[in-house]
Amino acid sequence: MSNDKKPAAAAATDAPVSNFLRAIIDNDQAAGTYQRDGMPSVITRFPPEPNGYLHIGHAKSICLNFGLARDYAGRCHLRFDDTNPEKEDQEYVDSIMDSVKWLGFDWAQPASNGGGNHLYFASDYFDRFYAIAEYLIESGHAYVDSQSAEDMAANRGDFSKPGVNSPFRDRAPAESLDLFRRMKAGEFKDGEHIVRAKIDMASPNMNMRDPAIYRIRHAHHHRTGDAWCIYPMYDYAHPLEDAIENISHSICTLEFQDHRPFYDWIIEHAAQGGFVQRPVPRQYEFARLNLTYVVTSKRKLRKLVEDNIVSGWDDPRMPTIVGIRRRGYTPESIQAFCERIGVTRSDGWIDYSTLEGCLREDLDPKAPRATAVLRPLKLIIDNFPEGENIQCTAPVHPHHPERGNREFTIGKELWIEQEDFMEEPVKGYFRLFPGNKVRLRYGYVVECTGCDKDENGNVIAVHCNYFADSKSGTEGSANYKVKGNIHWVNAADAIEAEVRLYDRLFTDANPDAGGKDFMTLLNPASLETIRAFVEPGVANVAADTRLQFERHGYFVADRVDSVLGKPVFNRITTLKDSFGK
Ligand code: ATP
Ligand code: MG
Repeated sequence: MSNDKKPAAAAATDAPVSNFLRAIIDNDQAAGTYQRDGMPSVITRFPPEPNGYLHIGHAKSICLNFGLARDYAGRCHLRFDDTNPEKEDQEYVDSIMDSVKWLGFDWAQPASNGGGNHLYFASDYFDRFYAIAEYLIESGHAYVDSQSAEDMAANRGDFSKPGVNSPFRDRAPAESLDLFRRMKAGEFKDGEHIVRAKIDMASPNMNMRDPAIYRIRHAHHHRTGDAWCIYPMYDYAHPLEDAIENISHSICTLEFQDHRPFYDWIIEHAAQGGFVQRPVPRQYEFARLNLTYVVTSKRKLRKLVEDNIVSGWDDPRMPTIVGIRRRGYTPESIQAFCERIGVTRSDGWIDYSTLEGCLREDLDPKAPRATAVLRPLKLIIDNFPEGENIQCTAPVHPHHPERGNREFTIGKELWIEQEDFMEEPVKGYFRLFPGNKVRLRYGYVVECTGCDKDENGNVIAVHCNYFADSKSGTEGSANYKVKGNIHWVNAADAIEAEVRLYDRLFTDANPDAGGKDFMTLLNPASLETIRAFVEPGVANVAADTRLQFERHGYFVADRVDSVLGKPVFNRITTLKDSFGK
């Protein structure tokens, strides 16, 4: 994905496709909206809550936010939105940082771009959030409400019914302030009091009906420990985090559209109080990624892990970044995917095959080729000299001769795919059947003579004779015209390897849409583990090595279980699109 070495002319044709967000930023650039001393005019952020692992939907947001910052010579902050003490954990923080870096992005900026390590934690702003809340109370823009949770819910009204003011709404600011300080000091139990912004209980937008901004939670926080027993609400903290960090364009998913008026309200009041600088950030919403055959809600992903449906967050069937990575996807293919699907303001489903297509486009020119026989059947060349193994060569990559050759041998007994033999061929079948000739790829032409069967009639070995002057790469090979061309490995030097064939995790394209229970739509055949035979050269591939097993697809040496000499391969995807068929 790196464009940096390309000449200017090529870069122009690679220019990012425009979208509504780029149009907004272009306008702001032209108007000088965010021209500020010592700061780039485009500052975005990616603000995950550290309560789970990142998934492919987050990748869209990461590519978008970091991508815009890169393209406009700005910067993107990685900010942990860790204002909710209960569900957060250092394990998630570490994994999220690792995933963002793996995707190819960095919050730390080079000196040429102003420098700075733009990694932030919302919990570092707890003092400021608190000071701003005191200011709002003192200036009459917030109050402590002491209604029970039930009364508060009832008095909030609904879409057709305006809310009712709390009996505590007009309590004196001094009284609210006193209560707020005592909330902070730990004098009250969870839920006894709450701080609310004073806006409009009759607003048609429910989010403006005196939203809660602070609540009591006697809970331990993964970073601030027991320093606080009151915590800010997300809708209060998030806009302030953006404003404190001088974010220019705050990009989020569509469900936050109705929260935008409060986003603007809170920032405007904080700016009036001198707590944050102008120009203030603006929020823009885009449609979240929905991918067919995939669920991305953290809660649902956690259920798959906890119920042992998958082996963990990094199971290669999981749509988490750690899972996709272990499956063998490249960061380049995910960036290309996010670029291709673009950003819009209307919800829709993206076909999973789009992601696989990006993977194939990325790996086809890169991945070295190799041979694997996944469903082995013995092929015996009856006229081949006993005990002899003859050297064969094949290109590492068919379009890159400079990458050299791979070497392996052919002998009397080979492994071929079961499906490459049919005792009674169907119409149009050109592979092995008695009387037919095929080329053993990079080896010889052979003619099938028959097969051996066990007592149940199952084929256990195929027999053939070879033509000694037909070896690939020799002159004589041109004299043989055959329609079938099959792959094989020599039983004498093949390596046995575990191969994991993955399929989609769900049988339904939209497993959690329309109230469906995704847990009832699991694909029982989403993982098949087989013993395969691979060519000797791949015995010592390093974990994470990606290659193409000819005719089968793209595979990766599993980053957890594969060891030198004893490789374990995950199928990333087949060569052709078979998804959903
Ligand atoms: P989930 O719904 O999976 O729990 P979340 O929105 O609660 O996700 P956060 O950690 O709050 O997870 O998300 C961080 C950022 O990623 C947010 O800006 C959010 O809008 C964005 N994001 C989350 N899911 C998607 C998605 N499917 N497509 C695009 N962006 C997403
Ligand atoms: Mg969220």
